[in-house]
Amino acid sequence: MREVYGCTESSYAAASCREGWLHLIEDWVILEPVDAHYAPVPPGVASHTVLLTNLANRVQPIIRYDVGDRVLIKPGHCGCGNPAPALLVEGRTSDVLTFPAADGNGHVDVPPLAFGSTLDRTPGVGLFQIVQAAPTRLSVRLLPAPGADAGEVQEAALKGIGEVLTGLGLAHVTVEPAGEPPRQTAGGKFRVVVPLPAAQAMRPNPGGPLDQGS
Ligand SMILES: [Zn+2]
Repeated sequence: MREVYGCTESSYAAASCREGWLHLIEDWVILEPVDAHYAPVPPGVASHTVLLTNLANRVQPIIRYDVGDRVLIKPGHCGCGNPAPALLVEGRTSDVLTFPAADGNGHVDVPPLAFGSTLDRTPGVGLFQIVQAAPTRLSVRLLPAPGADAGEVQEAALKGIGEVLTGLGLAHVTVEPAGEPPRQTAGGKFRVVVPLPAAQAMRPNPGGPLDQGS
């Protein structure tokens, strides 16, 4: 059942379980699977798309955003014992960051939106790029806005990212300044987050759940 880990590109904060489902982190999002006419789709039926509401950001809340993923909510309770809604996602590819869970079981997927919604309202941040340098280590590239104090911007940005991680149960993930501005890829594309290759991110943590992945 674990193959779902590797093929799922989820657009929401969710944690995988040993039964092979993704459990929503309910403090953070509400998902409403709907059909092509935006009518609710019951559990056990694949949706046409899904509406996402982000509860974490009260300054710029995201209300019923049409994500565009087909999802299927598991009917009944999941065998793993987690009472949170469990789902499978057939989504678009996006730059989701995947971290090993704090307890070492499974992983947590974090969409770029989670960081973007925080950094977009951090004063003085002109441009940012979050690079997953190791499974539990993020390196943050920042370009301060004109006239902004680079040190203050960096401090506020790292604090904001740390709060997002803590809210998702990822306090074991460290955040450090990259000391350089964001970069484009060779193809001229700019990515807000740059994940580790999936195989590396999902590798079990050899040093245990609190290993810093250095
Ligand atoms: Zn489960």
